[in-house]
Order: sequence, then C-alpha cells, then structure tokens
Amino acid sequence: ELQGVSCLLGSRERAVIALDEVSLTVSPGELVAVMGPSGSGKSTLIHVAGLLRPPTSGRVLLDGADVSRLTRARAAEARRRRIGLVFQNRNLVPTLTLAENGALPLELDNVPSVGIAEALIRVGLEGMGGRFPDEVSDGQAQLAAIARAFIGPRTVLLADEPTGDLDQTTGNQVLSTLRRCVDAGGAGLLVTHDPEVADWAHRVVRMRDGRLL
Ligand code: ADP
Ligand code: MG
Repeated sequence: ELQGVSCLLGSRERAVIALDEVSLTVSPGELVAVMGPSGSGKSTLIHVAGLLRPPTSGRVLLDGADVSRLTRARAAEARRRRIGLVFQNRNLVPTLTLAENGALPLELDNVPSVGIAEALIRVGLEGMGGRFPDEVSDGQAQLAAIARAFIGPRTVLLADEPTGDLDQTTGNQVLSTLRRCVDAGGAGLLVTHDPEVADWAHRVVRMRDGRLL
C-alpha cells in the first residue's frame, strides 16, 4: 500500500518529481498493471514499493506495517523476505544455478531452502534447477526469476517490464505464469507500456508525470 507517496530525484537545484502524491493499494491475489509513457515514474514506483528507495514523503505499508522509514539493512531484510522483484533482464546471478538463485534470499537468512524444486516445477522449469542462467533461454530465465519471487513467505511481486526483451509467445508464457502465481495469493504490480501485457492484470492504473491518473 502506497499512501501519498512522493519522490524527488536528482540534484536539489534540478530535482525531478518522479512520483507525485501516489496512493495505491494492491490486495493479495490481485495483479495491478501500471501503464504510462516513458519517464512517467513507473520504475520509480517499483523502486519505492520494493524498498530500494525511500520515498521523499508519504508512506509504504506492507501487510499494514509502515516500512517506508526502515534502515537500509532492515529494508533489505524486508525485501528479501517478503518481496519478489523481476526486472526486464539480468535478474539472476550468472555464477549460480537456477536452483541456487532461487535459494539465495533464503540462505542469506539461514532459512532452509526447501521448495525450490517445487517452485521451478510450478513455472514449468522441471529438471532445470541445475542449469546456469546462460544455459537457458531468456524466457526461462524470467520464469526462474518469477519462481524465486514466490519462494518462501514472500507475497509481493513487483515486475518492471518483465517481458520487454522477450518475443510475444515467450512473453505470454511468462505473463501467464506470473498471473497464476498472483492468483494463488500474491499481490502483484506489473509495470508495462504495452496494452497487451496489461491485459493480463485484474486492474490497470495509468501514470503521467509522476501522478496516478
Ligand atoms: P519510467 O519508468 O516510467 O520510464 P522513471 O521512474 O524511470 O520513469 O523516471 C521518472 C522520472 O524521473 C523521469 O523524468 C526520469 O528522467 C527521472 N529520473 C529517474 N531516475 C532519476 C535519477 N536517478 N535522477 C534524476 N532523475 C531521475
Ligand atoms: Mg521504467
């Protein structure tokens, strides 16, 4: 949940209002698409919601708790435990296998990394856990990133143009997987400039000049 979130970027003299009083709630099991032209603040929205950047003002809540003023360490902890992030590309650590990539956030917390194989099966990557990212297709790498996003107790999925680099067939496979994972109970935010991608969401919101329309 974002409550009146504003975000100023850049130097003080030439500050850009990347987010301007944005309020948005995404419920468990709901996939919300955020559409808007380049520069409208979509990626900044993902960064703030993903606790990668604190808002200049306003609040970010996770399951009702204010997480917008955490220290960097606490924000990183909340992120790796509760939030799955998928970007356009290069989501995986290249020197780790798909299974090891999935287990990484859990291992950082000394949580037993169970459920990785099941998560990979769920996204259609059965038997591929031992492969390295450069041994699978771009689409399969994105599917592995989605699997990682839903391993463990993490229930928020934030995806920034996750199919931007994929052909349409592969992109649709990734989006249907993402939608299925959200339908199983996650809260998802999907950033895109493509109306066909937004069709996969339950609800579409639009941004312009940092504002939610
Ligand atoms: P989108 O993802 O919709 O293309 P962004 O969230 O990346 O938009 O950017 C929103 C606005 O903030 C744009 O005007 C962009 O130029 C500006 N911006 C993004 N990052 C920075 C930064 N680090 N410093 C200054 N301005 C930035
Ligand atoms: Mg962007």
